[in-house]
Amino acid sequence: MSKKRREIPVFDQPIIETHCHLDYLTDRPLEETLEQAKGVNIEKVITIAVSPDNLARVRELSQVAPWVYGTQGIHPHDAESYSDDVEAEIRAHARDEKIVAVGEIGLDYFYDNADRDTIEILGEFETTLKRRGVIHSFTSGPGLARYALDQGWCLGFNGITTFNKAENVRDIVRMAPIEQILLETDSPFLTPVPYRGKENAPFYLPFVAEKIAEVKELPLDEVIGKTYANSLRTFFPGE
Ligand SMILES: [Zn+2]
Repeated sequence: MSKKRREIPVFDQPIIETHCHLDYLTDRPLEETLEQAKGVNIEKVITIAVSPDNLARVRELSQVAPWVYGTQGIHPHDAESYSDDVEAEIRAHARDEKIVAVGEIGLDYFYDNADRDTIEILGEFETTLKRRGVIHSFTSGPGLARYALDQGWCLGFNGITTFNKAENVRDIVRMAPIEQILLETDSPFLTPVPYRGKENAPFYLPFVAEKIAEVKELPLDEVIGKTYANSLRTFFPGE
């Protein structure tokens, strides 16, 4: 028996899915996923590389439609697979027309100094970076959030913001200016309420927008408009 769930809201204004993994989605053919994303007014989708195995796949995916883009990077979980060859591949394609960022990259460990290490590394590179990026799926504490926001980084929020137990993440949403928030699904992971239990997909992104508006007590159209502008500034500076 399937539970009746609230339908996905469709907004008049376009939204941008800034972080998903199209190559990990298994519930339906890619074409259908993209069609449904279009159906809820998603204007662009960025699919993210995580390991040497999917760098090329993400580049292929970035060619399936004019509005699908990719990144090149290695997730910290795959750090052991990093090599000179992998780095060369990332560098060779980081400027491809449909590749909009280097990522995923970062630290992923649970000990007290993680945020301090992140701040140190960000500080090292900030002087040479032309543009700031996003700390995606932000779940760290207010210390790192404050630092990143002050330095002009965006914070990416997803379905976690809809989870009962995620009050700590909602606190960060409250403290982050709407001008520095990006919307993402991180699908197929982290499906937002009310579709938890189903595979996540870019077309559930409207639920994240709604939650951000609710948590920040802002009009929905302001959240959609500002996060859209933030996404363009971060990934599509020419537009
Ligand atoms: Zn991801």
